[in-house]
Amino acid sequence: MSSPCQTKTKTTCPYCGVGCGIVVTAESDNALAVSGDTDHPANFGRLCSKGAALAETLGPSNRLLTPSLNGTDITWETATRTIADKFSQTIQEHGPDAVAFYVSGQILTEDYYVANKLMKGFIGSANIDTNSRLCMASSVAGHKRAFGSDTVPGNYEDLELADLLVLVGSNLAWCHPVLFQRIKAAKEARPDMKIVLIDPRKTMTAEISDLHLPISLDGDVALFNGLLKYLVDNKALDPDYIAAHTEGFDGLVGNISSITPETLARKTGLEAADLEHFYTLFASHPKTVTVFSQGVNQSRSGTDKVNAIINCHLATGRIGKPGAGPFSVTGQPNAMGGREVGGLANMLAAHMDLDNAVHRDRVQGFWKSPVIADKVGLKAVDMFEAVRAGKIKAIWIMATNPVDSLPAASLVEEALEICPFVVVSEIYDNTDTLKYADVVLPSLGWGEKDGTVTNSERRISRQRAFLPAPGSAKADWWQMAAVAQEMGFSDGFDFANAAAVFREHATLSAHENANERCFDIGACAELSDQNYDDLSPFQWPWRRGEAPAIKRFFAKGEFQTPTSKGRFIAAAAEGAEITQLDPDILQLNTGRVRDHWHTMTRTGRTARLSAHLAEPFCEISPVDAKHQSIHDADLVQVSNDLGNVMVRALVTTRVQPGNVFVPIHWTDQVASNARIDKLVPQVTDPHSGQPASKNTPVRVRKVEMASYAYILMRDRPLN
Ligand code: SF4
Repeated sequence: MSSPCQTKTKTTCPYCGVGCGIVVTAESDNALAVSGDTDHPANFGRLCSKGAALAETLGPSNRLLTPSLNGTDITWETATRTIADKFSQTIQEHGPDAVAFYVSGQILTEDYYVANKLMKGFIGSANIDTNSRLCMASSVAGHKRAFGSDTVPGNYEDLELADLLVLVGSNLAWCHPVLFQRIKAAKEARPDMKIVLIDPRKTMTAEISDLHLPISLDGDVALFNGLLKYLVDNKALDPDYIAAHTEGFDGLVGNISSITPETLARKTGLEAADLEHFYTLFASHPKTVTVFSQGVNQSRSGTDKVNAIINCHLATGRIGKPGAGPFSVTGQPNAMGGREVGGLANMLAAHMDLDNAVHRDRVQGFWKSPVIADKVGLKAVDMFEAVRAGKIKAIWIMATNPVDSLPAASLVEEALEICPFVVVSEIYDNTDTLKYADVVLPSLGWGEKDGTVTNSERRISRQRAFLPAPGSAKADWWQMAAVAQEMGFSDGFDFANAAAVFREHATLSAHENANERCFDIGACAELSDQNYDDLSPFQWPWRRGEAPAIKRFFAKGEFQTPTSKGRFIAAAAEGAEITQLDPDILQLNTGRVRDHWHTMTRTGRTARLSAHLAEPFCEISPVDAKHQSIHDADLVQVSNDLGNVMVRALVTTRVQPGNVFVPIHWTDQVASNARIDKLVPQVTDPHSGQPASKNTPVRVRKVEMASYAYILMRDRPLN
């Protein structure tokens, strides 16, 4: 029970896609305490180390407090007019595709909605993309190919109800820790529950797995095509479901019939006995959930991997049922919200499509907008290449740090260096991207901003403000609405508050939507400001006139395809059997660590989180370390044609011989040379445009040092 001097605010964690509910308690002395919200259906009170340390990341240091132009403080009026003038002039001289927005899975749905509306409906280009492209674009593309819509069929409770849980390319223990805790508890309560981990690395998630398959990098399509063949050969299918609710099965079976055990072993790198074990488990457990995340998505065959997994679930009718279904978990807190408003270069809004003239007319009519983008815009990697080529001449970057996180990150620096006009909306004054900004806009951070996010199970929750805005910082949606009005689009952007934006978004979701689109939150279209403030977490769909309910999709078909049938998609197995001619070349896999988030702008502010893994490192197998005379804790250089980094060697059997792993978090703000995305090439999945961040050829060499010294300083060293 709270004391009379306490105020409590229910909000949502700003980090991963689990979307945990949080209670922030403000004491009378202004001290803040963070705890898990026991009422929130994502976490029921649990938090991970990052969520629990959120209060430590708050505070005034390094906050941006006022807009600036080329380093000089300016008013909001001057800032928004400057941006509007520059964007308008660029559009006038070079056309709408000469400008772009690069946004983020960290912004709220209301921010995303306004950004998408301004770019696609009023500027008339689809050049808006997001760092979510790096996170889950392959899942979106895979869902759309199979289901006709970007719909996650199941719920978190399915992960607990499953008799077999297959985790593919998903280190839940570190990347989605509360989901991991829920699964661990479920397995402790029901020890017969089986868990299979499919991952080239033996991550901490292996702690709860009955079987770990150390698959070769990019061997996943072969593995799941092989599984489908096994299900066919062993008559472990659901013929009724296939006949009633799917199309393309016979063609696919013809495609995979030539798979042999030898091909499978070569492409997956797995022992025949392990393959048989996994295939037998899958065939014999009707209640199977397959969870997949970045290890699947961040690949040149990411979309095919997603479809190879979904094929096995469609063939067994294991979809949309309690404890059964394919389940994509998103990396970021609001990647799903971005998908709902169409905040990607290849989507429109409210699950409508850019390449559908009826959808375009519907959205343009709803927005009463002067134009509507009629072709797909540039996806993240191509967008920055267009900046580098001088085709995009004005870009607005919001809540993300592309010079650290995009592939070939040094080329992104080159691009921004030559771009005539760069706007960056940020909360801190010390990110690597800021030095390329002409205009810097101070944004509200977590605890100050107000809006909604959607987690991986389609659950929409409120992020609520419990702190005042620092300085003159403003919400991202407000910034874009103000610029839109300066550009002359006053009618479409006179939102009074975040609630007004959400109401419009909800209204559009239900507009001319007689069950045609899964995404429908029409029940929220007339929420009062007070009801919006009080809104409890709910799952979509929540249609007008209905009560909020737990919903799964596709158990009875009703896919969003023209025939209402789910589609089997032929997925081409690639990659894994590449034979390496140079024994000194290792394959670089990148990813997250437990206690840091993205480029550490927030988690790097707490000593507690930095203590877990204090330095950037390279996991290398004992075999490869010996070959290069590398010892544990040596400094090593990881390099390829794109550049090099220097990190600490961590010799471990967690990685297989031939592979190394380096985390993504360390930037120029916290290390001298550890931006690993400099080395990742601009190779993307052909369907999703998602970069292949987990399979890059590199060399690893020991850096010989005559001596080492440690310097302990109270303040950051000057660059
Ligand atoms: Fe936040 Fe994800 Fe941890 Fe939950 S699991 S507290 S959402 S970082």
